[in-house]
Amino acid sequence: MPSATPDHILVTGGAGFIGSHAALRLLETGHRVTIVDNLSRGHRAAISALERVAPDRLRFVEADLRATGPLTAALRGVDLVLHFAALAYVGESVDQPLRYYRTNIESTLSLLEAMDAAEVDCVVLSSTCATYGEPPDEAIPIRESCPQSPVNPYGRSKLACEVIIRDWRVARRRAGRAASAAFLRYFNVAGSDRSGRVGEVHRPETHLIPICLEVALGQRDRLSIFGDDWPTPDGTCIRDYVHVEDLVDAHLVVARDIYGRRSAPGELADERIFNIGTGQGVSVREVLDACRRVTGRAIPASVAPRRAGDPPRLIGSPERIKSLLGWEARHRSIEGMVEDAWRWRRAHPQGW
Ligand code: NAD
Repeated sequence: MPSATPDHILVTGGAGFIGSHAALRLLETGHRVTIVDNLSRGHRAAISALERVAPDRLRFVEADLRATGPLTAALRGVDLVLHFAALAYVGESVDQPLRYYRTNIESTLSLLEAMDAAEVDCVVLSSTCATYGEPPDEAIPIRESCPQSPVNPYGRSKLACEVIIRDWRVARRRAGRAASAAFLRYFNVAGSDRSGRVGEVHRPETHLIPICLEVALGQRDRLSIFGDDWPTPDGTCIRDYVHVEDLVDAHLVVARDIYGRRSAPGELADERIFNIGTGQGVSVREVLDACRRVTGRAIPASVAPRRAGDPPRLIGSPERIKSLLGWEARHRSIEGMVEDAWRWRRAHPQGW
């Protein structure tokens, strides 16, 4: 009889922002964790910070996911995979679409092949609200049933990963083999571990809060606000920010759920697809003001032209995961998210 909760979890992209927070929580809750990361965007120092938490339960494999052999070896004895690894910058994906398709899709194909070879049958995919594209106003807050029509190669590569995992799962179940998958479509992830052990830094940085904090630290001259004439109350774009700790909680809840259902009969049509957000929108100006209040610094900003493919409002409905699994975001204040991000960043002004 298989155990009802996954013990050993493989975290792809565990040296990155969200993956390192997930690995930290898994280690703190007694799990064994294997991280596979090629360090293309992740940080060796994040791995070192995690090793200090539970050196006996963490294994780090520096490898590219597209190398199926080492991945298969890393997967032996693993119960479930949290698949965070990807290239994830919208603008970069527009300039380098082939690189995005090759990396994100090939990594996912290789992961599934390795999972088949190692008989691992559960995977949670980091998907994104970018798969929805630019939903019309009447579709806000966005539900999971909203048509997916991504407007950039990043979003399209993630949608392709969803499709591939869905087909993998269906084929395995038709063949009488266990398989379970979930797609978590995150909105904007913010904040950081409140005890300051891991934090957020991307190179290049494209996320609003870290950019504001870099201006506060004097590492950039100013924040560019891309358009202040959008049809929103203060003219700037509105997004749904979810604290990384809430996001990680959602992964734990979903992981337990799909692990318990991987052999359940007759559930081919029952997909675990969830938006992960708060259901509330915060404008760019509101984020900037929160960053100014929290840091006590001026943070100069100027208005730049609108960017193509920037929807004015992206807010997710988190009702589905709340009603089915009881998860909802605990952190609601943007100021609280900025405070947590600032605490880590002030202690690590140069990032990792
Ligand atoms: P990140 O860049 O900080 O982390 C990604 C990690 O994956 C990095 O450590 C990188 O080295 C690793 N990686 C990339 N390609 C790899 C490969 N081929 N083989 C092995 N390792 C590889 O990104 P993040 O912000 O932590 O995002 C994690 C996931 O969440 C991504 O899949 C992203 O699409 C998704 N997501 C993030 C956000 C957000 O706001 N940060 C929003 C929606 C979805």
